[in-house]
Amino acid sequence: MQSTPDLSRLLNELETLASFSDAPAPAVTRVVFSAQDLAARAYLHRLFSEAPLELRTDAVGNTFARWVGGDSSLAPVATGSHTDAVPHSGRYDGTIGVLGGLEAIRALQRGGFHPRRSIELLVFTSEEPTRFGIGCLGSRLLSGVLSPEGARRLKDGDGRSLEEILRQAGFDKSLEDVRLADKFYHGFVELHIEQGTLLER
Ligand SMILES: [Zn+2]
Repeated sequence: MQSTPDLSRLLNELETLASFSDAPAPAVTRVVFSAQDLAARAYLHRLFSEAPLELRTDAVGNTFARWVGGDSSLAPVATGSHTDAVPHSGRYDGTIGVLGGLEAIRALQRGGFHPRRSIELLVFTSEEPTRFGIGCLGSRLLSGVLSPEGARRLKDGDGRSLEEILRQAGFDKSLEDVRLADKFYHGFVELHIEQGTLLER
């Protein structure tokens, strides 16, 4: 089976995603639920739908794009990362884990692979603490490390609550339904840039 990723397409998509920014290129500033973040989400949803993957978005804006496998009784395997960006960051932080995961799925599709387990691509909401002062907001809620009550107490620098901002951004589901069951995923792998020296050492 031949499954070669289309690198020029991937680089093009990374470049397009980087253009959704409140800072001039090559810097990227994309704070969660800003107009640029919402536009970037819409762009990604289009790419996911075209793959085609089944889309789901939860109450805090975590996005799940699923390649449905042949055996629905098996737990899916997952990959993904984040697309929010701290002020004046680079274009690959988080985004390579999302668009790289998407291209990996498309390469497998082109190669004629049919997964037994579903393969799910995740985009975690607000990995960066820029807006709400807490990192990994989406994945904390998914794993139950942060409770819905704890999330309701979060406010941004302008004193606006997370729920108010979610409603305004069009997310109207219940935060109680974000948490995933234990062992929901069979496995998870994230492609992410290395930002420290630990791995290198
Ligand atoms: Zn990151």
